[in-house]
Amino acid sequence: MAGDSTILNIGLARTDITPEQPVTMAGYASRKDLSQGVHDPLSARAIAFEHGSERLVVVSTDLIGFYDGTCEPIRDAILSECGLRPEQLFLSAVHTHAGPSLGLSSGRAHPNNVAYTKRLKRQLVQVTKTALAELQPANLTAARGSSPVGVNRREQITTRDGGTEIRLGRNPSGPMDREVQVLVVRRPDDAAPRGILFGYGTHSTALGPRNHVISGDVHGLAEQFVERYFGEGTIAPGFAGASGNVDPWYRVVPEFRTERGWIPEPVLLGTMLGEEIVQVVAGAGSKDLGGSIAADLQILELPGNRNDTGESTVPVGLVVTAARVGEAAFVGLGGEVFNQIGRAIKEASPFAHTLIITHCNGTAGYLPILEAYPEGGYEVRTSPFGPEAAGLVVAEVTRILHELHDDASRVASASR
Ligand SMILES: [Zn+2]
Repeated sequence: MAGDSTILNIGLARTDITPEQPVTMAGYASRKDLSQGVHDPLSARAIAFEHGSERLVVVSTDLIGFYDGTCEPIRDAILSECGLRPEQLFLSAVHTHAGPSLGLSSGRAHPNNVAYTKRLKRQLVQVTKTALAELQPANLTAARGSSPVGVNRREQITTRDGGTEIRLGRNPSGPMDREVQVLVVRRPDDAAPRGILFGYGTHSTALGPRNHVISGDVHGLAEQFVERYFGEGTIAPGFAGASGNVDPWYRVVPEFRTERGWIPEPVLLGTMLGEEIVQVVAGAGSKDLGGSIAADLQILELPGNRNDTGESTVPVGLVVTAARVGEAAFVGLGGEVFNQIGRAIKEASPFAHTLIITHCNGTAGYLPILEAYPEGGYEVRTSPFGPEAAGLVVAEVTRILHELHDDASRVASASR
């Protein structure tokens, strides 16, 4: 059926990317020692879509992100070996801080990490090829849930001199997007779903800098839960939604505690998220969202963060990838954006379902909202972007989504 212009084909594949050697771990500059063992395996999961001659591949990896110049070489390898155009590939990471740091340069990265990254590159090419080889007619449906696993992390504290300061902590009444976004792939004759894609906006930082055990953290443990629940045939790629200012409810714990009946916090939170996904899948509507495919990739040139003199610095690029598969849209952002930005994009989107995927096709860093700049805090201090950037991103992504949507209606009416 491949190539039939009226049918949506979907293929999924998964591969184990757990480090085989001790590696340096990503996410905390203070953590220098190599990893000490594995709590749960890391995976890469790919989903391929095909409608007529158009294709789209979305890859989820249980990694922190493609930092240190690893994004382009890995993307290039996948694109050239799989015959894809740049906008047809979403290469993303769930942002676990309990995984390996990537590096292809032996001067900068530990030899074990360089070897790991080279192997990873081959594995990501292969998992994409396998997903493309698995293309078969399938339905695509959507569902939504809600989860309290993540919480706004910008906690206001009172300083000694009586002022206030934002620090990384827990701000339960702060702005938050608790939506769990779910897309379900079913093949006509299968009992269990073939694919369950989910997006949720939290950092995967239940484990902190004192942990040295490899884990997918909240997102990875949720993926594993969903796959265990539905069985071997189901692949559940997870995605970090807009989570720049969101941490897990229990954050940066040092270890998987199990004494005296304690349930390790990452397991507790990953399981909670996983159970919500399973409940939502059971109640998913039957409306097939599938349809024609279109995609776009833009590098937005955005105002830079102010320097010490108050002058705006040079513009900074943010990679935005957007695609539609029928009435489902994918928005990939090459950085970590505040949850309000994801919510604004979803609200403005003309599509029935708009999956927000961060740490995708780039690693620009934090994108806070305008209102956060006067408050300050870690994300604002370290952001490469100026205060006006977030508004420009929402406007531009909305414009691209409308263009993809209108294009879809044109294609649909032309084929009638
Ligand atoms: Zn982060």
